[in-house]
Amino acid sequence: MAFEGLSGRLSEVFKKLKGRGKVKESDIKEVMREVRMALLEADVNYKVAKDFVASVSEKAMGSEVLESLTPAQQIIKIVNDELTELMGSTNARITFSSKIPTIIMMCGLQGAGKTTHCAKLSRYFKQSGKRPLLAACDVYRPAAIQQLQIVGEQAGVPVFEMGQGDPVEIARKAVLHARDYGNDILILDTAGRLHIDEELMDELRRIKEAVQPQEILLVIDAMTGQDAVNVAKSFDETLGIDGTILTKLDGDTRGGAALSVRAVTGKPIKFVGTGEKLDNLEPFYPDRMASRILGMGDVLTLIEKAQSTVDEQKAMEMAKKLKEQNFDMNDLLEQMQQIKQMGSLSQVISMFPGAGKISEEETAAGEAQLKKTEAIINSMTKRERERPAIINPSRKRRIAAGSGTKVEDVNRLLKQFEQMQKMMKMMGSSKFRRAAKRGRL
Ligand code: GDP
Repeated sequence: MAFEGLSGRLSEVFKKLKGRGKVKESDIKEVMREVRMALLEADVNYKVAKDFVASVSEKAMGSEVLESLTPAQQIIKIVNDELTELMGSTNARITFSSKIPTIIMMCGLQGAGKTTHCAKLSRYFKQSGKRPLLAACDVYRPAAIQQLQIVGEQAGVPVFEMGQGDPVEIARKAVLHARDYGNDILILDTAGRLHIDEELMDELRRIKEAVQPQEILLVIDAMTGQDAVNVAKSFDETLGIDGTILTKLDGDTRGGAALSVRAVTGKPIKFVGTGEKLDNLEPFYPDRMASRILGMGDVLTLIEKAQSTVDEQKAMEMAKKLKEQNFDMNDLLEQMQQIKQMGSLSQVISMFPGAGKISEEETAAGEAQLKKTEAIINSMTKRERERPAIINPSRKRRIAAGSGTKVEDVNRLLKQFEQMQKMMKMMGSSKFRRAAKRGRL
């Protein structure tokens, strides 16, 4: 996966810092030199790396870092924020037109992944309830039309083509076709060349003038590193692009392109391609990418959220209750509500390192289970939550009816809570604590 090298290098740099207490200005200078080297090795544009390090240094030299007892964390936070900023801060969306259809013109060099990404995008929009149409405007490569038809079929999206005709005319006719057939999005697959040439640029300009697309998206191959940045610059200067799609991020690209393209062109990365299959397309979130580069999931947001929602006094009371084994279902309910304030379960889980491996179905199931648990506890009286043992079969039926669940669900929750209490009791025992101290657990 992209960024492995950069991630590794940065974590080495920060590891050295973590071992120290307070840091001096000279330490920060040394770290910044290493960060700059790591960026250059990852093929980040020279000027981008220089500006980045200058900006991080300026912030890191502030008294907050120098006087902090945890300077490494502070610096990582600054690097994280600056990386996010570098890549565009927020997720840039596609602009939809009030006129039908919304026209997205895809352009890029040959082999960048244009045709594949036309199909990926069409599939993405189809899944969100739109009715896309693909149009074959690459008339030079005979196989291009057929390739678009194949991927279009895989995506379940119709393809408009007029053989080897005039690309400008094909684009115009495709717009009319989309209107006639109720397609609200039209994606134009245009021709690519091995290198930028004037003839190609002229053709793209004429297509742009003829159909006035809402979005001109440049498809760039992340594997081409620095070249990707130059290509983006030229296309933007001659055509005026609205954003980019960075492809092949699944390969062993060093990632420099992702970090430089936005900074050099000022145009956002809107999507990234992460494989050859049609579902290997992700909207691009600069903050998530930054966290990924720093190998920490999105823990910073998680910590910030926890800090802003969790009352510290209450947290200490809870810890005390747990320790003294006084933690009852009233407390459990309160904890669940606090977690909920941090966002939906899927949001919270997605911030953990490695969370990418948890499927949407799994988080949805977890969320449904949490709701059920909360409803059951809410249907109990305060006294029952303190001493679940007093809940008799008729009360169980009432609680199930009151929470819209089954008696089995109530039984399961009571059983789980009982096990949890047993576990807490065990952990509180002196025998357990002694074993833990000796590292036997
Ligand atoms: P075009 O010439 O720009 O239209 O490029 P194509 O769509 O034909 O893609 C060129 C090659 O790159 C094909 O073999 C694709 O399967 C492959 N490809 C496209 N996108 C990705 C991607 O995100 N990851 C990987 N690994 N391969 C990709």
